[in-house]
Amino acid sequence: MKRRALAALLAALLLLCGCAEKPVTAQSFALDTVLTVNLLSGGTAEDAEAALARADACEALLSAHREGSEIDALNKSGEGTVPLSDLTRFVLEEALYIGRESGGALDITLLAVSDLWDYKSEDPQVPSEEALREALVHKGMERIELTAEGACAHGAQIDLGAVAKGAVGDEMVKTLQTRGVRSALLDLGGSIFTLGDKPDGTPWTVAIDDPAGEGFVGTLALRGSWSVSTSSGAQRYFEKDGVRYHHILDPGTGWPAQSGLISATVIAPSGLVADGLSTALFVAGEEEGERILSRFPEAAAVLVRQDGSVRTLGDVDFTPAD
Ligand code: AMP
Ligand code: MG
Repeated sequence: MKRRALAALLAALLLLCGCAEKPVTAQSFALDTVLTVNLLSGGTAEDAEAALARADACEALLSAHREGSEIDALNKSGEGTVPLSDLTRFVLEEALYIGRESGGALDITLLAVSDLWDYKSEDPQVPSEEALREALVHKGMERIELTAEGACAHGAQIDLGAVAKGAVGDEMVKTLQTRGVRSALLDLGGSIFTLGDKPDGTPWTVAIDDPAGEGFVGTLALRGSWSVSTSSGAQRYFEKDGVRYHHILDPGTGWPAQSGLISATVIAPSGLVADGLSTALFVAGEEEGERILSRFPEAAAVLVRQDGSVRTLGDVDFTPAD
């Protein structure tokens, strides 16, 4: 009896300890989206703010559309060499690697093309075939030369939009880890990052949006620190004369990619890899996507086909929605 009372007391104490740590939530707007930081264990409001400040600092380096960023400087430098921060150098190296491994499905030199597809405009226009052809002249990952002094783009126009959320999320997670945060969930406009385990010991549950509707195609169960990135035609698009034009482009033609997939989700320890690969798989399609993913054994994927059916690749705990 005594033992049972002691056990009950211990259980109540544990419960109290569990409740003592209130989750901390903070939000900001960056990278063209809402960033949400949820700290579940070992974090304070200052830690959450530090992660959001890190996101701002990264965006100031990486955004092609920010005057004075390192990428903006590279795009304007012609044959000149631009000194680079460690972060920009790392992101360029990784993105170029994924670009090569994906056979060019991910191509970070499409800025001139993506600028023609003005999704933010009130009255967006479909670019002409001629304009697309001219813009594609500025493409060419092989032109980017990284040297000890920095980088020279040799006229290539760089857009890190396909890897930025992943790369920045990785930096935010590092900031939180350095400050002693043990458990956190970050949402960067649909790019999800888990840090550590959930305090209650259950797995993280991450839902994958149904690109054709309002609900979800299913949920992922994850333990530990992961990044989950989805590329989908439903995330950013405009409609003109009954045709939908989305924001993920075929680097060969400059037109929105049509690969038979309506979304590609990649789960990887690195956000940069998850983000880069989700774009690459969406562009490349199922068959080629499987080959690309096999080059990244630490990553897994959930693909949604045009008919709504789902295919998983690699080691992933995925439960389809009813
Ligand atoms: P994501 O949402 O991560 O798939 O990235 C899409 C963004 O990356 C677009 O808004 C463009 O800025 C850029 N982009 C579009 N198509 C490609 C591509 N094939 N390779 C690299 N970047 C792309
Ligand atoms: Mg991406």
